[in-house]
Amino acid sequence: MVRCQLGDRARTRQHRIASGPKSGPKTMEAEEQGAWEKPFEASKQAFKNSKNGNDMILLSFDTEEFDVPREHGVDFSLEEGMRVSVEGTTRILDILKANGVRATFFCTGNFAEQAPEIMARIKAEGHEIACHGVDHWRPKADDVFRSKEIVERVSGVKVAGYRQPRMFPVSDDDIERAGFLYNSSLNPAFIPGRYMHLTTPRTWFMRGPVMEIPASVSPHLRIPLFWLALHNFPEWLYRSLVRQVLRHDGYFVTYFHPWEFYDLKHHPEFKMPFIIKNHSRKALEQRLDRFIKAMKNDGRAFVTFMEFVNRQKKSV
Ligand SMILES: [Zn+2]
Repeated sequence: MVRCQLGDRARTRQHRIASGPKSGPKTMEAEEQGAWEKPFEASKQAFKNSKNGNDMILLSFDTEEFDVPREHGVDFSLEEGMRVSVEGTTRILDILKANGVRATFFCTGNFAEQAPEIMARIKAEGHEIACHGVDHWRPKADDVFRSKEIVERVSGVKVAGYRQPRMFPVSDDDIERAGFLYNSSLNPAFIPGRYMHLTTPRTWFMRGPVMEIPASVSPHLRIPLFWLALHNFPEWLYRSLVRQVLRHDGYFVTYFHPWEFYDLKHHPEFKMPFIIKNHSRKALEQRLDRFIKAMKNDGRAFVTFMEFVNRQKKSV
């Protein structure tokens, strides 16, 4: 187990050093890399020594206007998409509040501007607000910058994290130039037609000054443990795979969307595939609630992405 862990970490480290920052003065590059070397080594040791009680769960929600019907040829307005997503986000916030845990909300510029009251609730309840592009359906070249401007203006908080809509590739230079401290746009899984990431690092790594925080996949087969998995896997299997990730990596990253918490089964006009509709709304609320309770019962700590980033820095 430990050997595997070190193996992954060593590969992660090689990747980090090999990729390096793409811009910025040479001396800064050296400083950034040097500065991150120690936390990296220290956290590796901390993870190795960690008991279950120290393991971290990074829950996240891609808080966007619902646009999936458009993928299936259904015309769907921003207003309709927002209505679905506001309802879903409200349910998510209720579940988190009832369990006393915090999460990170990656919000689109559209969502922030259309639902400032929900943004205020996310902030008031102590969750982290991060960016998820501007218009989920029509990404534009300068979204990394515009998203930060809009989300910060509406929420009144400084945003540190970014995730590209649909976890598609995003310019590392833009992420760094916009001043983001972390990027969580990578799903290192093998999902034919969507993500073909078999050799990218599974666990966090530095790209210049920016921490890359991929979504968790199982250590060996790279089984994705994101939203679709909680809908469709038996709950015992999902938890078992999550615990495998925690034993291996010391932390677990996953993400959901507000519209999964909407009654998709009763809207055939959305033309949602079965695997998305399956266990949506109430069934997913119950699944997420039971998952959170099970992890709390194991003694895991729910942390925001920025708390995770800071924890690496503090472990120098
Ligand atoms: Zn998204």
